[in-house]
Amino acid sequence: MRHYKALYERMRRKGVIIRRHPDGKDPRKIELFGKFKTCSKCKETKHIYDFDFKNRRRPDGSQRHDIQAECGYCRKLQKIKKYNSDPHSYVLRLIQIIRQPSAIKKGRRRCTMELDEFMNEWQKQYEITGLRCPKLGIKMTYTGGESKVITNISIDRIDGKKDYELGNVQFVSNIYNIMKQHYTDEEVDEICLLRVNVIKKLENGQEKVVGG
Ligand SMILES: [Zn+2]
Repeated sequence: MRHYKALYERMRRKGVIIRRHPDGKDPRKIELFGKFKTCSKCKETKHIYDFDFKNRRRPDGSQRHDIQAECGYCRKLQKIKKYNSDPHSYVLRLIQIIRQPSAIKKGRRRCTMELDEFMNEWQKQYEITGLRCPKLGIKMTYTGGESKVITNISIDRIDGKKDYELGNVQFVSNIYNIMKQHYTDEEVDEICLLRVNVIKKLENGQEKVVGG
């Protein structure tokens, strides 16, 4: 345990974040703040494990452990509300997720752009096409929640073989990004054209629906 603490401290100094209790179940919380606490937002009394630490620095630089007044659930809800209040906050959040150091471990592509640089790419597109998906022409949304909203803004790497790098990102609706998962922009165009031609013929009654 002692050994582990030293490692933890070393990594912390390097700026690497290791959470010893990623599920929030840190026994020190009970020692410091008792077993239960009432959330200032929902007013429910919950287990102290449902509350996050709030680390503050004393003037001398040392850390003082404090606990959040609102429960983790309320804080999560609030974040979702904030990120879904306007498209720019929503995009900022998307970029933050991409830039997380843990993203690579999760199998995501590297991001070589700084946050500002990335946001600048969004601003450039927004000034030209606003919330319109440049690929599908539909209005992109920024709705929250767990499930995937197909019209929501998402970040596409134009060339799927390249990283999130300058000149290789575009902001498109989720559904377009899903189509792009295995194909290039050009291939998606070709497939869509084939489908459009079939739909047009069906509408003109030139072709009978097979098996329909
Ligand atoms: Zn609460």
